[in-house]
Amino acid sequence: MSGASRRSFDRSPARREGWAFPFPGLSVARSPPEDRPTFWTRALGNPPEVYGERLRFRDDATWRAIDPTRSKLGAAMCRGLREVPLTPGGKVLYLGGASGTTASHMADLVGRRGGVYVVEKSPRPFQRLLDVAGRWPNLFPILADAHDPRTYLPWVPPVDALYLDIAQPDQVEIALEHARLFLRRGGGLLFALKVPSLRRKEGGAGDPAEQALRGITRVFETAPPLRLEPFHRGHIFITGHYRPE
Ligand code: SAM
Repeated sequence: MSGASRRSFDRSPARREGWAFPFPGLSVARSPPEDRPTFWTRALGNPPEVYGERLRFRDDATWRAIDPTRSKLGAAMCRGLREVPLTPGGKVLYLGGASGTTASHMADLVGRRGGVYVVEKSPRPFQRLLDVAGRWPNLFPILADAHDPRTYLPWVPPVDALYLDIAQPDQVEIALEHARLFLRRGGGLLFALKVPSLRRKEGGAGDPAEQALRGITRVFETAPPLRLEPFHRGHIFITGHYRPE
């Protein structure tokens, strides 16, 4: 959110209702109550809802509630996420977009000058993702398997953030390879890691989640992982910044 719109928001009815901005620079609002807040993204344009999310009209803008039971990003916010490593105007590569629930919120966050490149391998959700992309000018769907990034390498520019939600046994290896191919140094990671899907490594020490974290922290500087229960069983949410040797 720009300085000017931020200043007008500071004097606005929404502010008086107790809305707050927990992530400086990003158009995310948090509404009361404190112990069970709702997080909202400011919609690009004025779309109807994407997945039945609640809408509010405040200060000449449409705000979309992020349903934490549907979006792991929303769940992470409810579980105390401190930083969302995204920047307005930034480019994001999103693996496992399904029908665009969270991807549409990401597109709200990076805004009109940004872009969200969304990879999804299943044709049925992809069809709905195409519909969402028709309404969000900065959302670019790609029907492909994340095991084969070279098929979309020509279409995806270097990105400022990588989001993963693919529940694959090799999800960590997929994250590392995509970081190497697409993510700029210092870029953000948002990783909804599904622990029960992880393949245990031959001879690897510790449980699969620890093994996964060891692999990730070799090249990412990470915040403490967040458990997404009760919203999503078996998931942890990892954020960080890419710091390869
Ligand atoms: N991230 C979505 C959201 O919050 O709206 C939900 C994602 S859903 C849990 C996981 C999705 O990842 C499914 O739609 C599945 O088809 C997709 N997926 C799984 N493995 C994949 C792969 N190798 N390449 C691309 N997509 C994959």
